[in-house]
Amino acid sequence: MTILLNADLHCHSVVSDGTLTPEALAARAHANGVQLWALTDHDEIGGQQRAIAAAHARGLDYLTGVEISVTFADTTVHIVGLGFDAADQQLAAGLLATRGGRGERAQEIARQLAQAGIRGTYEGALKYVGNPELISRTHFARHLVDAGVCRDTSEVFRRFLTEGHPGYVPHRWARLGDAVRWIREAGGMAVIAHPGRYRLTPTEEYALFSEFKQHGGGGVEVVTGSHMPSEYPIYAAMAQEFGLAASRGSDFHSPDESHTDLGRLPGLPGQLTAVWERLEHRILRAPPARTAH
Ligand code: AMP
Ligand code: MN
Ligand code: MN
Ligand code: MN
Repeated sequence: MTILLNADLHCHSVVSDGTLTPEALAARAHANGVQLWALTDHDEIGGQQRAIAAAHARGLDYLTGVEISVTFADTTVHIVGLGFDAADQQLAAGLLATRGGRGERAQEIARQLAQAGIRGTYEGALKYVGNPELISRTHFARHLVDAGVCRDTSEVFRRFLTEGHPGYVPHRWARLGDAVRWIREAGGMAVIAHPGRYRLTPTEEYALFSEFKQHGGGGVEVVTGSHMPSEYPIYAAMAQEFGLAASRGSDFHSPDESHTDLGRLPGLPGQLTAVWERLEHRILRAPPARTAH
């Protein structure tokens, strides 16, 4: 399998903070030429069986996926898991524990926003939630846009919900070593999601990659909708330095919000090993297309 494959290994459905169903995402991925797909909802694998069925109905090969929230150096870091056994009990328990606390956090976000003069945001955010265990800042952002408080979600994250602004509630997520272990012991590969997005110092970033590697992490996202093109060569070099496979994914959430559509990214820089080359044995192949008579 070549590095030129149109693989999209990062996106979100209504099971977390995306706006499309797994079925609609599979249709969109297929229409955009995706050949290998993974749905990576935040801290939740409840959409995997639907995604597998929808992928195979469209002739797409599939890798199981998840994006785990991790606290590292007092910063939230995301670790994508690919190609794991979706029936693994330890992974399920770890994700359940990681999701816990989102409800209380959401109420605290709403309290802070109310103090800043914006009332009713908990109820407002809930209207956008597909899975109550997965209430996230994205749902507050959608409500604040539709309520006319902000023009778009990026304005929301500039003025609210982030450090130094109303509605910022720090939260302790999973530990890096635990997240990597849950994924690995379920037979999958752990991948550092969009490393260019974290506000880590160069020393902290080096520590993240080193510790991730020591825990048995296997890959890093190089070409992602959450990176600027100028960041691709930076993380391509990091992948090579740390002996990590490279991943590619749009991080698509919604046709109205995402800058990068499913399957519409540049290819990986050629000198890298793609995660799908190391995960060949974990790919759930689409059944061969039936020919019409
Ligand atoms: P949470 O897991 O509740 O902290 O929410 C994190 C989610 O918020 C991310 O997965 C993104 O979907 C969204 N998000 C975070 N920062 C931004 C931003 N600057 N612009 C748009 N969406 C963002
Ligand atoms: Mn998200
Ligand atoms: Mn992320
Ligand atoms: Mn994501």
